[in-house]
Order: sequence, then C-alpha cells, then structure tokens
Amino acid sequence: MPKDISKEKSINKAKTTTELVISAVIIGTAVFLGKGCLDRVKVVPSTQNEATKIEDIEIPDASEAIDPNKIVFAAKPVSTKSKFSGNLILVNNEHQYYSTGEEKLVSIMTKNDEEGRTSFTAVDYDYTVLEPVYEPLAKMVDDWYSIYNNDTLIVYGSYRSNEFQQQLYDQFTANTAEDGEAPIVAPPGFSEHETGYAIDFSETESYDYQGTGDFQWLNQNCHKYGFIIRYAEDKEDITEYRKEPWHFRYVGSPHAKYMTDNNLCLEEYIDLLRNAYNYSGEHLKIADEYGSPYEIYFYPSDDGEEYTNVPLPTGVKFDISGNNVDGFIVTVHVNEKVEIGKENLSLTTSPYSSATTSAEETTEEISTETTVAY
Ligand SMILES: [Zn+2]
Repeated sequence: MPKDISKEKSINKAKTTTELVISAVIIGTAVFLGKGCLDRVKVVPSTQNEATKIEDIEIPDASEAIDPNKIVFAAKPVSTKSKFSGNLILVNNEHQYYSTGEEKLVSIMTKNDEEGRTSFTAVDYDYTVLEPVYEPLAKMVDDWYSIYNNDTLIVYGSYRSNEFQQQLYDQFTANTAEDGEAPIVAPPGFSEHETGYAIDFSETESYDYQGTGDFQWLNQNCHKYGFIIRYAEDKEDITEYRKEPWHFRYVGSPHAKYMTDNNLCLEEYIDLLRNAYNYSGEHLKIADEYGSPYEIYFYPSDDGEEYTNVPLPTGVKFDISGNNVDGFIVTVHVNEKVEIGKENLSLTTSPYSSATTSAEETTEEISTETTVAY
C-alpha cells in the first residue's frame, strides 16, 4: 500500500534526521566549547520513532545542519472524492466527468463587459467557463489581439450542462451517417465541456476555426497561459478524437508548458506522473514560462476511505488536483513561501472543506506525520 510506503519513508527520513541532529550536536558541542555560544532549537516531538524522544535539544548553528530550502511535507486528509475535481482531471471516452454541482461558473460576456474587454466575445451571455479559467483566457486573447487587431474571434463552445451535452449528442447521432471515424461530439458525461475547463473558438465570419492565419498565434502560444490544444492530429489514436484545432483545454501552468515542450497529450501526461513521479520517488521538477520552479508529484487515492492522507508541502504554496482516475497531482510552487497553515486556501473551501473541519486535528496530523523529503 502506498500509505505504508510513505510511512516507511517517513520513518527512514526521520532516522536520517536523527542522525543529522546527532551529528549537529557533536559538531555543535565542539563549536560551543570553542565559541561558547548556543542557539536554542526545538525539535517537534513525534510519537512514531526515536526522533520523538529528542525534545528541547540545544543545537548550535542548526541552519548548517538542516537545509532550510528543503521542502517539508505533512500528510493531510483530503476528501477522496475530490479526485474527480481540479484543473488536471482527465475526461475522455473512458473517464467520465462527475459534476459536484458546485462549479463556480462565470459568463464570458458579462466579465468582458465588466472589464471593458473587446478583444473577443461569446455567442451569448449563457456561455460560461469556470472562474479560474476566465482570467488566463482573457489575458491570452488580449495579448493576441494587441498583435493582430483581429476582432473576429468568438467563443463558440464553453461549459455545457450534462443535459445540453445530451441534446448535442442526440442531434449529432441523428444527423451523422456512420463513417467509421472517431466521434466529434462526446456522449453526455464524457465531454470536457462539462468540466468548464474547455472552450471552442470560432471565427465570427465563417464559424470555422482551424488555428491558421492570425489564429495560429493562439494555438502556438496558448501553453504560456495554461492551455493545451487537447486533440492533436498525431494523438488521435490515444485521445480517440479527430484533431480539433479549435478546442482549448485549461490545465494550468506549468503543466501546459511541459506537455507542449514534450509533445504529450493529457492522457500521456497523467500516465507519466503516475508512473514516474510518485510522491515516494522522484518528483518532476520544471519551470514555467517565466522561470519559476515547480515540483510535481502524484499520490494515489485511498479509494476505500472517505479521506486520503496526501503528503502536502508546508510553508510553500501548492495546488492540488484530482486526475479523475486514481489519485491526486500536487504542484508545489517551490519559491513561493507562505505562512505554515496557509499554503493552499482552496483546502479550506469546497471540495476539501470537510477534510479540514478541525484545525486541531490538522495540526496534530502535521506534527506526527511530518517528513523531510530528499
Ligand atoms: Zn470542444
């Protein structure tokens, strides 16, 4: 079980920490004898191993013994069913989208009106995306518009309710002869549009967006804003979709950049993280468009349990997303230090709220499960 592995790792790491502490004491004593100065460092008591008995040890120059830049991880309970939400969920013919019914949607045209944005529009005010998608979408189109001054871009597809997807699917199957090609309208439950993370662009004039001409810039630069072209021609056999140059999917930064640089579709990226970058092994260390470093790892969900104890970083910002298959992907913003306990505000809101109802409990969890990784 991954949980056991993680615990074992925790014990091993704690032993290493103990050794470090002992060495520090020895070195420190020497320094003390020489210089006669002492700093006071409190070692957090733990109930699981030998490190627990070391309390209130006086260690001089502890900063030399323990690298302050090392990320400290602590297991925190995360609602297991929240593996079905987040910017990295994989929704395809095999993996259905389960709506929480709590998606925070914003109208593209309403937001454009509010912000005086004229660089693009949508078909009508009912066209919505998830709240965190609007800003990067608007920024991307604004940057494009400032170069091309082209005012023909329109959002022709965005969030779809399950009912609306059903209507589209019925229409599609009724009107399309079987041509043996991959479907272009997903059955209800299996469309990315139901997640609120996907948009389809169109050209006002022809309703035919191919990502060519002025629009080529959007397809080539969207990864800088956290978007991927979800259905590429060379990935048809994996995505099971024909190429759709108009369909943009938000996955966030730095994932979009990594996927684009390495020519990975979402299916491949999710598999890669699970197979090569598990929490207990090596983590994926990459930078975003602006050079900011990130550390990314996968942690499997404890599917029999209401909560999964996910190792999460302390003292640095992070994002957590389900993969909609078998676990969570944690993205650590390595250089963004925050106060301990305020690493991720979304943990205190839906869908994680039930996991952190008791601050006392969470604190307890941190002090007993804290591990120092690598
Ligand atoms: Zn689409």
